[in-house]
Amino acid sequence: MNHIDPWEEAKKRLTRIAALTKLDKKFLNQLFLHDNPIRMRLSIQMDDGSYKIFTAYRMQHNNTLGPYKGGLRYHQNVSESEVKALSFWMTIKNAVVDVPFGGGKGGLIVNPNELTDAELERLTRAFARELTPYIGPNKDIPAPDVNTNGKIMGWIVDEYSKAVGEYVPGVVTGKMIEHGGSEGREEATGLGGVYVLMAYLAGIRKDPKNMSVAIQGFGNVGKFAAKYLLKKGFRIVAISDSKSGVYTPNGFTSISDLEGYKRKHGSLIGYFDDKQRKKGIGKNIDPGKILTLPVDIIIPAALENMITKEIAKKIRAKIVLELANGPTTTEADEILRKRHIVVIPDILANAGGVVVSYFEWYQNLNHQRWGKSSVFRRLKHKMTSASVKTITIANKTNISLREAAYVLALRRIERTWQKQQNIAETSRQFLQKQLH
Ligand code: NAD
Repeated sequence: MNHIDPWEEAKKRLTRIAALTKLDKKFLNQLFLHDNPIRMRLSIQMDDGSYKIFTAYRMQHNNTLGPYKGGLRYHQNVSESEVKALSFWMTIKNAVVDVPFGGGKGGLIVNPNELTDAELERLTRAFARELTPYIGPNKDIPAPDVNTNGKIMGWIVDEYSKAVGEYVPGVVTGKMIEHGGSEGREEATGLGGVYVLMAYLAGIRKDPKNMSVAIQGFGNVGKFAAKYLLKKGFRIVAISDSKSGVYTPNGFTSISDLEGYKRKHGSLIGYFDDKQRKKGIGKNIDPGKILTLPVDIIIPAALENMITKEIAKKIRAKIVLELANGPTTTEADEILRKRHIVVIPDILANAGGVVVSYFEWYQNLNHQRWGKSSVFRRLKHKMTSASVKTITIANKTNISLREAAYVLALRRIERTWQKQQNIAETSRQFLQKQLH
């Protein structure tokens, strides 16, 4: 497979989409650069007494709409280019759903499975100490991403609070509930995606009842998407994880049952017993085939670049709901467009997570605690409103939903940028007058 440079790809897409809408050149040029690209070296003592050096990044892309916001990823394949692209997508995603944040992202080159708990904690605390001058509830607010979680966020709150001399839970989001996290954060990305899909189907007057769905990925996002889709009457006929896939033409009746099975056996292999298989109730399938099943909707909810050009040519669904980040390569996107397969883009479909992160930050800053139903009501409102706006732009200008989501975001950021420019200009003129 060709090596894909994520930041170069992201810039190419931005150039193409910017041509669809008139934007101020100075504003557009700013988006091709990161406000503050931060690189760090962290030296950690390992359990055996030796020292090891790790490379970490925090890429602060753009803060026109508010403090930088985006997760911290711990992975052996993290690269500067990847973190740059992810932080840029956060700028766009936050603007699509209209939360008052700019875009940022962090990454640490490490395979956390190779560290002991104590080493992981020392590494995170060292990362937090280096990050302290750059982050804060009104500056930059990290969150969990791949291989990071509420516990890791807790260590960051701790280090930051020690450094500034007061307890500041709002410096990160995605915390555990007992440490100031929000109700509903766990469900937010999957459920948010369901709200977006419902808004899209309502727009084309399509009844979701009985529409068949295949979901790739049975982690946090895939699991909650499946649960809420089932509640809405969709027929979930196939689900896969990295090792296994299950298929049942009549649809699963319980997602919790699948979850329990996976917890007990480590995968979904053998979920259907011999009797069920013989009766045609269900069967195991190759997880690599999940995206090309004959269903109405496919949901990539696993990793980046899963829909390649080869897969795109074979997809039989009419709708792709992108719950993973960047699941479709640029070439595949073009093929899907030519085949009139609708792609509901990641920057809209999976933004539920950052919306509830915004709610968490807001609750922390205002010393409030909202119940789950209140969080879900607000999430539905945000996701539906962003979906309707995106669909309206797409329909009016005959562009794809991905392009429309970008256009919505770029116009929103540009409007605020323009106001900031005007204020800066007025103060400059005022000062000049005072001097003369
Ligand atoms: P997770 O680690 O909980 O789950 C990932 C799932 O994908 C696992 O079930 C894993 O087995 C499966 N998987 C991995 N490789 C696979 C393969 N080749 N085929 C099929 N399944 C495979 O992660 P998550 O939090 O559910 O995140 C999934 C995606 O959603 C990622 O792209 C992530 O960046 C994106 N996302 C997550 C959130 C969030 O709030 N968690 C928010 C926005 C975007």
